[in-house]
Amino acid sequence: MKKALIVGSGLGAMTTAMRLASRGYRVEMVEKHHQPGGRLNQLKKDGFTFDLGPTFFSMTYEFEEFRKDVGLSRLPFTFRDLDVLYAVNFRGSPKRYMIYRDLDKLAMEFEAVEPDFRRKMDKFLKGAASFFHDTEYLVLKRNYDSVFQYLMTLLRVPPKYSPKLFRSVWTEMERHFESREVKEIFSLVAFFLGATPFDTPAIYTILSYTELVHDGYHNVVGGMYKIVDGLRTELDKAGVKMHFNTEVVDYEQSEGQITAMIDQDGHRWEADLFVVNADAAWFRHKIFKRPRYNEQKMDKLKWTLAPFTMYLGLDTKLPGVPLHNYFLGDNFKEYSGKIFKNAIKLDQPYYYVNVVSKSDPESAPEGCESVFVLCPVPDMRYKPDWSDRDQLATNIIKDMSERTGIDLSKHIVSKTVMTPVEWRDSFNLYKGSGLGLGHDLDQIGGFRPRNVDEKFGNVFYVGASTVPGTGLPMAVISSKLVTERITKAYGPVHK
Ligand SMILES: Cc1cc2nc3c(=O)[nH]c(=O)nc-3n(C[C@H](O)[C@H](O)[C@H](O)COP(=O)(O)OP(=O)(O)OC[C@H]3O[C@@H](n4cnc5c(N)ncnc54)[C@H](O)[C@@H]3O)c2cc1C
Repeated sequence: MKKALIVGSGLGAMTTAMRLASRGYRVEMVEKHHQPGGRLNQLKKDGFTFDLGPTFFSMTYEFEEFRKDVGLSRLPFTFRDLDVLYAVNFRGSPKRYMIYRDLDKLAMEFEAVEPDFRRKMDKFLKGAASFFHDTEYLVLKRNYDSVFQYLMTLLRVPPKYSPKLFRSVWTEMERHFESREVKEIFSLVAFFLGATPFDTPAIYTILSYTELVHDGYHNVVGGMYKIVDGLRTELDKAGVKMHFNTEVVDYEQSEGQITAMIDQDGHRWEADLFVVNADAAWFRHKIFKRPRYNEQKMDKLKWTLAPFTMYLGLDTKLPGVPLHNYFLGDNFKEYSGKIFKNAIKLDQPYYYVNVVSKSDPESAPEGCESVFVLCPVPDMRYKPDWSDRDQLATNIIKDMSERTGIDLSKHIVSKTVMTPVEWRDSFNLYKGSGLGLGHDLDQIGGFRPRNVDEKFGNVFYVGASTVPGTGLPMAVISSKLVTERITKAYGPVHK
């Protein structure tokens, strides 16, 4: 029976472990953090429970595909559809836009600012839909053995989509809509990819199609960490052992194969094959010390924005604040232009707020609220010093207080802040970049770090910085792609 050692326990790792175990591989996992899940993690503090990172996801059918592949009769967690996807607030405006999946209701939200919204939106979504369906299987859900093979595949994409490669999400918005509000709100999808609408290719407007039409957004009953709890139970049943507080810092090799990974205490972890769920570029840089991934070259890659996150326990309810909210300013273009590289102005932040206790009341004591705040900020190449963390935290709390009409500072009974420094150190994220490598055209498909190692034939990669990309459904697809690679190399079943 072949033994696989998985380095890391993020969603990509856990789903790969299940897929390999169901094929008869013996699987063991080592994780530097004290509990599984990677960025899909959980914080419990002062009677409150918070999801550390992800708060919702799309493409539930990827979890269904996974369930069938590993032979589970049901998924070990329950997701629920969000009928209001999110609410958007603009600084200085009393109007709050509710983003409904129901397109008729959505049209009513925008009738005052965008005449003929429904017709324009239908046209916009139709274009995004046809691109999605023409490329999902052809380009996205595939392994590439070379850049050449990838480019050959791209040639099979209908040429009518070429312009979408070269214009930005923002330009695509300008082609379809007039109002500032509509353009800004529906280009927020670029931020879900850790970038801005001005530097994200228009092909990613497919995300508007997935959120509004195709499958919508979902969260998980009991909080997002139930995904990890559920998978952990199944991994236990499948005999997969997990070891925590165990960080791989070195390796041993012989004749083009890795023979063992070495942890911080010098313990050797032997296996026939290794699956790295640590960031695929970071591992080549830090552990394998590849010249192609030295610091200078890593710094030249395009990395996604870093997270500045806050976890607030409030001893009051927030009646006017729904589950998912965006608080935007009044200088979208200027802010987006600066956010990547400049030490952003900390006094007028743009941020996202998730009040998880709205959908899962058990995450906060009676009469209280669990609040998660995410503010995208420059990664540590551009802002290495976070000694001003309290200033940004205070500014967000002040801004949110003004905009909700509740002085939050009087009600905070629990407060935890994570800057890019903590995100980097907790999960080995390169310079604190939250979603890993960006999704520019020269960093996707055949150009993304491959899921099989260039030098060691028995090392594979799964997760956000290898194919296909970032986000929870992509991590699940990534586990499918790496399992295909492994079973091609080692055989489909090991019983
Ligand atoms: C703030 C935030 C919000 C997000 N919100 C959403 C959302 O709403 N919806 C969505 O779909 N996605 C969201 N994402 C993205 C999503 O969380 C990730 O794309 C996904 O969880 C990545 O999974 P992964 O398989 O790459 O593993 P990761 O989560 O990166 O896990 C990798 C694991 O490897 C471990 N590791 C690293 N190096 C070593 C080592 N040397 N030895 C041992 N272990 C090691 C790490 O500790 C970590 O546990 C969000 C991300 C962040 C940061």
